[in-house]
Amino acid sequence: MIEHKKTSTPSVLIIGAGLSGLTLAYYLQKKDISYQLLEARSRIGGRIFTNYQEGTAPLEIGATWLGKKHQELNNLLTELDLEIFEQILGDRAIYEPISTSPPQLVSLPPNNDPSYRIKGGSSALINSLVEKIKHKNILLNQVVTNISSTTNGLSVKTKINEFQSDLVVSTLPPFLLTNTIKFNPSLPETFEKITATTHTWMGESIKVGLRYTTPFWRAENSSGTIFSNVGPIPEMYDHADAKDKYFSIKGFFNGAYFSVSKEERLEMVLTQLEKYYGPQARDFVSYEEGVWQNEPFTYAPYDQHVLPHQNNGHAIFSDILMDGKFYLAGAETAKQYPGYMEGAVRSAQRVAKQITKEHSSLVS
Ligand SMILES: Cc1cc2nc3c(=O)[nH]c(=O)nc-3n(C[C@H](O)[C@H](O)[C@H](O)COP(=O)(O)OP(=O)(O)OC[C@H]3O[C@@H](n4cnc5c(N)ncnc54)[C@H](O)[C@@H]3O)c2cc1C
Repeated sequence: MIEHKKTSTPSVLIIGAGLSGLTLAYYLQKKDISYQLLEARSRIGGRIFTNYQEGTAPLEIGATWLGKKHQELNNLLTELDLEIFEQILGDRAIYEPISTSPPQLVSLPPNNDPSYRIKGGSSALINSLVEKIKHKNILLNQVVTNISSTTNGLSVKTKINEFQSDLVVSTLPPFLLTNTIKFNPSLPETFEKITATTHTWMGESIKVGLRYTTPFWRAENSSGTIFSNVGPIPEMYDHADAKDKYFSIKGFFNGAYFSVSKEERLEMVLTQLEKYYGPQARDFVSYEEGVWQNEPFTYAPYDQHVLPHQNNGHAIFSDILMDGKFYLAGAETAKQYPGYMEGAVRSAQRVAKQITKEHSSLVS
């Protein structure tokens, strides 16, 4: 049996060091509220994960795009001195409507609401937040398994430690929370009914990206924007770095192929791209992918059919549970833009406000 080592007491234990957890830590630190972040993975960032390789374009394996309407995220980026740049879409796309006709080059209408990317990669946001908060407050490889009420607060067990704190905030996707963590006393049945059908945004998705030395898709009769009903890549986009110095294309891959090998997926990617670009498609520098369904700290299989965004932003996620000691943040808990980076930031803002209001004694 593993012996659980008890550790000192921070005011707030934050479970998960993705965008919600790190943003919350940043806000709590501003208010001098002590906290500790527990992260299950051996890396921070959660569903934000940029693949970096020296001298090449950063490849987004997770979250990539934001819009001007994502005000709180934009404000946070400005506060952290991070810039954004417009996603290249172009004025035409390769379009494959049905498997029985060849791909076509179609014109795209002007884009009045462009998407943007974070300069230096989405992980630049994560790394910048980590720089602002104290590194020692983040513990990696801490898989939380149990949360129990105690006389003075809550006890949180991970596979290797036990922690005590006044308050706990989960930033896990709600479905994952009640599917993987045991509570004593149990959480309300009405709450668990909602979480059981709360979709984890992008949990089933597969991202694929290829780096090339030249952007051959920018040729006269071509495009880096792909829309295909035939697949297995339904969408793909030019994914050059912010300075347009290093080149890659990146898109989604049919999520149903999560169980095949990386080599098989790569071959399917190349076969599709070869159809549009010829043999040069095979002349790639590197191939990266993210199969999120195979990530146990993002995805767990549902017991029933759950629709995209189902129950995202449900009002119940603002409830404070376990006698006012357990809070929920996380992108899916935000009332506006749930599931997205904007939702993650807003959820952290909400919980920081709730904690400050309900527990003013924690604020120095
Ligand atoms: C492929 C993909 C593409 C996306 N594209 C976009 C996009 O273009 N734009 C956009 O706005 N959003 C996008 N998203 C969504 C975006 O990534 C999320 O909204 C955001 O990153 C969620 O942050 P979070 O902190 O709420 O959750 P998460 O990032 O999921 O963080 C939760 C953290 O909890 C940890 N954890 C899980 N279980 C435990 C446990 N038992 N104990 C301790 N820690 C645990 C996890 O490891 C993780 O670090 C995309 C997501 C994916 C996967």
